[in-house]
Amino acid sequence: MSGITRRKLLAGSVLAGFLGLTQPLSSSAIGRTIPWRNWSGNLVAHPAKRFSPASESELADYLKVSRGAVRPVGSGHSFSALVPTDGDLIVIDQLKGLLDHDEVNETATFGAGTRLGDIGPLLERVEQAMINLPDIDRQTLAGATATATHGTGIRFPCLSGFVEEIRLLTMKGETLDVSASKGIDLFNAASVSLGALGIVTSMKLQNRKPYRLKAVNGCEPIEEVLEHFDESAQRHRHYEMFPLTHSDYALTLAIDETEEPINNPPPSAEEAAIFANAMSGWSKVPPALRKPLVDGMASMIGDSQAIDVSYRILSNIRNNRFNEMEYSVPLDAGAPCLREIVKTIIDKEIDVVFPLEYRYVRRDDTWLSMSSGDEDHAAISIHRTASEDYRPYFDLIEPIFWKYGGRPHWGKIHSLGFKELKDLYPRFRDFAEIRESLDPEGRLLNEHLRKLFLPGDR
Ligand SMILES: Cc1cc2nc3c(=O)[nH]c(=O)nc-3n(C[C@H](O)[C@H](O)[C@H](O)COP(=O)(O)OP(=O)(O)OC[C@H]3O[C@@H](n4cnc5c(N)ncnc54)[C@H](O)[C@@H]3O)c2cc1C
Repeated sequence: MSGITRRKLLAGSVLAGFLGLTQPLSSSAIGRTIPWRNWSGNLVAHPAKRFSPASESELADYLKVSRGAVRPVGSGHSFSALVPTDGDLIVIDQLKGLLDHDEVNETATFGAGTRLGDIGPLLERVEQAMINLPDIDRQTLAGATATATHGTGIRFPCLSGFVEEIRLLTMKGETLDVSASKGIDLFNAASVSLGALGIVTSMKLQNRKPYRLKAVNGCEPIEEVLEHFDESAQRHRHYEMFPLTHSDYALTLAIDETEEPINNPPPSAEEAAIFANAMSGWSKVPPALRKPLVDGMASMIGDSQAIDVSYRILSNIRNNRFNEMEYSVPLDAGAPCLREIVKTIIDKEIDVVFPLEYRYVRRDDTWLSMSSGDEDHAAISIHRTASEDYRPYFDLIEPIFWKYGGRPHWGKIHSLGFKELKDLYPRFRDFAEIRESLDPEGRLLNEHLRKLFLPGDR
């Protein structure tokens, strides 16, 4: 088994988790009351109707005359109940594509419904590239930024940190062009809006010249990775790890710019199947007896590498559906928080084979991102296969995040409400006020958002 590589291991396994193919809202569904589901299937809703505007003016007209609850939806990749509504679902998938670009400043404006995965090839044509991307690229631009979706890298803020301008249609049908120069408070609020301020129709992004990346995957003992994590995070453009559960080992991923030729072979399906079987074998062994098996396989994983254009290296295809909880903690709290989670999984014999994820994200000025404020943050994720009940596991781990001052990822599962959130973000109350002023009737509030933004609504 000496030829095992992390890439092959991930390709067909439970560890792979993650695929980004959502169930798109087909045009034949528009106007019909059919259920909406998110990517992982933990959320179902029965919207009164779906409205998919073909243009900004069609959307503005709709907002002026419509009454009742509405929720905007992107590609439905959030695990938290941001989208579900029994009112109207606003689907902005027709508002997409590259609308404008500026060669000198390396900025470009996109329709807000553009999938992140479509942005790379579109930007390539105008000699630009996104500066960073999350783990998958099936999300829409508006959906990803609404929850402060982030990638990896101590030098890179979440995607909202690269937004320069936002076009926002309010519930009154007004069009607001929001940017730092036109009003810094509204800009910092609207950059991570949870879809609570209005409907975003386009966004201008700060980009850079196209570049090529080399990803090197490895496997090392968790404690050794933690020992050099800060140094590795500084040395590499991107550095992260996936601690294996019931194991001393973590998969590691280091990504750097390169001029080397593209070499990105697809993972072998046959080998992927071998490892998928091996790992489904772990799940049949009681957690308390699993460690020698997992450690044994992990110690045989060799390094592997891939070189490609930036967007094909930064984002992945995740095949197996799962649910996820992710919190960010201040950088100094990252290692102790991760250690406590790893130990709790072992001590409580939690029956989970999915790895954790540990990455750094740079601070930013938005009001509601996980890294907003003066400090960089460590983001820690736990996952559970979609077919299993995630609640007992997530309920056990969530208080550990709280102990270390954790802030939840808005698009992932958490149980916090206004009472706790108002103290986690210095500008949380300011955001709640702007929300109220833009949507005084609360038409954009569903049950989940009421819990987040209305004091006393628990
Ligand atoms: C497999 C997988 C991998 C992931 N990897 C990462 C990762 O690496 N890093 C990370 O940070 N997150 C990650 N996520 C989380 C994901 O990026 C976020 O949940 C993201 O918000 C989903 O985008 P979406 O387009 O699916 O939006 P949705 O989930 O459909 O909506 C998200 C929010 O955006 C709002 N919204 C959508 N469109 C508009 C609009 N036009 N105007 C205003 N508001 C709008 C919605 O109302 C909602 O509040 C991952 C999720 C999955 C399923």
